[in-house]
Amino acid sequence: MNWFSLKLFELRFWLLVPPVFAFVMGCSAQDADKFNGQRMQMVERQIKARGVTDKATLDACRKVPRHRFVLPQYINSAYADSPLPIEEGQTISQPYIVAFMTEALNLKRTDKVLEIGTGSGYQAAILAEICDSVFTIEIFPKLGNKTIELFAELGYKNIFVKIGDGYKGWPEHAPFDAIIVTCSPTHIPQPLQDQLAEGGRMIIPVGETHFQSLVLLEKKKGKLREEKVLPVRFVPMISDDGEKY
Ligand code: SAH
Repeated sequence: MNWFSLKLFELRFWLLVPPVFAFVMGCSAQDADKFNGQRMQMVERQIKARGVTDKATLDACRKVPRHRFVLPQYINSAYADSPLPIEEGQTISQPYIVAFMTEALNLKRTDKVLEIGTGSGYQAAILAEICDSVFTIEIFPKLGNKTIELFAELGYKNIFVKIGDGYKGWPEHAPFDAIIVTCSPTHIPQPLQDQLAEGGRMIIPVGETHFQSLVLLEKKKGKLREEKVLPVRFVPMISDDGEKY
């Protein structure tokens, strides 16, 4: 290459830089915008419109990238007003239900929360934005391990995942300021009642396969006061041998 062709090559290179840069930036901005807009709309139309007012809950829903928690084939439905299938025949809950349950727990920044049913990890990520730490248990190793990787990718350092049967809770870290159960047993597991701190709240879908009520419990002077708050339909809570609790 002589001096002239070297300069020409350099010039061509520099001429190419701005359009390539603009293209790359344009793509990622467009992507971020696309989901950002959908996420803000989800909060306005599905969550605020139905009466959720807690600022921390709304902010967390505005922040957590729900599209990262769904299967790739459902990415364009990530912000739709419905639950979606995840692996192992399980589901990621409808955005409104996630927000409703989160608000019901009345969380403080310093709270330590237990979740039963990690699934996609979306509910745990919402909680992790609001409180100090989240301990979450998933019975299917495939789901649990995939979610552990996603939490690491997204930089969540205050979520701790255990693979096992959540019916038994996580006694080593009890008591918990709040407990959220995202799979449905027919009764309220005694270990979870025991592991709830004084003054703490638990929200849990209780019932048969097709008809369940979301029950909100509060522990006052060692006693649980309970209130049915919403009819819902969650996947069953199962034991290690696949039986419904
Ligand atoms: N919170 C999840 C919802 C997942 S669906 C999310 O945001 O995506 C409920 C999950 O509970 C499923 O992943 C299911 O595998 C799990 N599960 C069912 N029985 C369980 C048990 N005994 N212990 C822990 N997890 C359980």
